[in-house]
Amino acid sequence: MAIVESVGKIPLQDPPEEEFCAADLTWTKFGNAEHHDEVALIPYDRVDAFIIGECTNVECPTRFHIERGRKRTIGSLKEYKDDEYLEYRLYWCSFGPENYGEGGGILPSRRYRLNTRNRAARPQSMRGCTCHFVVKRLYAQPSLALIVYNERRHINKSGFICHGPLDRDAIGPGAKKIPYICNEIQQQTMSMIYLGIPEENILEKHIEGIQRYCGSDAKVSSLASQYVHKLGMIIKRSTHELDLDDQASIRIWIERNRKSVFFHQDTSESDPFILGIQTEWQLQQMIRFGHRSVVAADSTFGVKRLKYPLFTLLVFDSRQHALPVAWVITRSFTKPDVSKWLKALIDRARSVEPGWKVSGFLIDDAAAEIDLLRDIFCCPVLFSLWRVRRSWLRNIVKKCSNIEIQREIFKRLGRIVYNIWGGINASLALEQFLLDFVDQTAFMEYFKVMWLPKLEMWLSTMRNFPLASQEASGALEAYHVKLKAKLFDDSHLGALQRVDWLVHKLTTELHSSYWLDRYADESDSFQNVKEKYIASTSWHRALQIPDYAVSLDDKDHLFAKVVSQKDSSLTHSVESRI
Ligand SMILES: [Zn+2]
Repeated sequence: MAIVESVGKIPLQDPPEEEFCAADLTWTKFGNAEHHDEVALIPYDRVDAFIIGECTNVECPTRFHIERGRKRTIGSLKEYKDDEYLEYRLYWCSFGPENYGEGGGILPSRRYRLNTRNRAARPQSMRGCTCHFVVKRLYAQPSLALIVYNERRHINKSGFICHGPLDRDAIGPGAKKIPYICNEIQQQTMSMIYLGIPEENILEKHIEGIQRYCGSDAKVSSLASQYVHKLGMIIKRSTHELDLDDQASIRIWIERNRKSVFFHQDTSESDPFILGIQTEWQLQQMIRFGHRSVVAADSTFGVKRLKYPLFTLLVFDSRQHALPVAWVITRSFTKPDVSKWLKALIDRARSVEPGWKVSGFLIDDAAAEIDLLRDIFCCPVLFSLWRVRRSWLRNIVKKCSNIEIQREIFKRLGRIVYNIWGGINASLALEQFLLDFVDQTAFMEYFKVMWLPKLEMWLSTMRNFPLASQEASGALEAYHVKLKAKLFDDSHLGALQRVDWLVHKLTTELHSSYWLDRYADESDSFQNVKEKYIASTSWHRALQIPDYAVSLDDKDHLFAKVVSQKDSSLTHSVESRI
């Protein structure tokens, strides 16, 4: 076939099918005698149809992810070639580009032997697939896209087919006959196992999933059942302890999970330990929900109980629930250190989605490096009161026995906070507060030690920064509570001082639970998971309370009376402002 040298000579193709793939297109050699690519020209608005078609390839069903992206603005180039891009996206088969499999130099994870120790903790989907293509939205003609297919075969570097039913190395004995299990089903099955869902329910969902690709048959079901059972065994026997020494263990984990680590600094004389974790899925969620939206921080989690505290970055998903999109484990919150990992995180997002931008950053700690956050994110900083409120409330309940007094203390603290906007002298109100409740010695001790020295700083942050909505605060609190429930259940007391354990918990159970929540909601499956997920924040539960059950009381409308939804003879008094 002749080599074509200008875009104008490439035929425009617009296949009539709803979805189409490379095989439905005629490919043209584009370039010159020394260097040319296989290309096809399609309308830009058909790019999604092409990608969906490529994903449902029968021989190698897969997903394509954006490995790199670049953008230009219209008018930014004075001179350009006819194939210059306005938008450039490199799509890579999600079984690559890294190879975590046998011969990949990273980890023998492909062939499981259940009777051996030290096998991979979980099946890896990174198999070094080299299949990739580029989609260029043309600068000269933005309504057209040029697809440049660099490698159409799903093969690894050695040239072998590396996934799908033709892959000779698929998991387990008899695997050649096993219908291909795509990423999504594998993730779904793993998530369900990590969440402790009974095996028969997992199997049912697993079979439902693979039947979408290959119809039903007794052999398929029996192999699927073996697969689920084996995966369950592998996960059950997998351990966070990859080495007896925690530090060595973490290094092994990092080697095995390169794609999920966006920043790592090992402990040395000059530098403190920092580990930034973000899975591919979390990256996608951060790009999707964080762009032109608010990103929030849950800082200093586990300061007292964990070896290193945990810092979480969260976005608000389509239901305004907080979704963790990156975890940072470190003790250092100095400016240079924070700026190192924050920059790495933002660069990562922008390498996939150039122009990715946050419109607000929500902090929960008045001691945060606000200037730094502003500089790096170039956006306003907001403040959320949930952490203060929660700490006060928990200690009031714990340290004062009389319910009337508990209520009174909480009201008074609420008023002190509220008054900062009314220009009323906070220190006078505080003095009076300390006098009035002087007999509540346990609470006062806590308050004086924990809050008095820094109360001025907190109040001034509240005064000077816009406050986050109740909805956002409720969502952050829900994340915090979930994290606590997952990490601090009593069965792991001995492990809290190990970083490898924390990493394992986050990337398996917690990650799975958020993955499944989102999947249930978006695919409208797993109805019970979906309902629980929707109702998981106080804001959503509050929306269920009918208006007639709420009455405003108190002359300032600072408090509202709410009739309990569980027992209508009970009423609760709640703050209506903060
Ligand atoms: Zn592939």
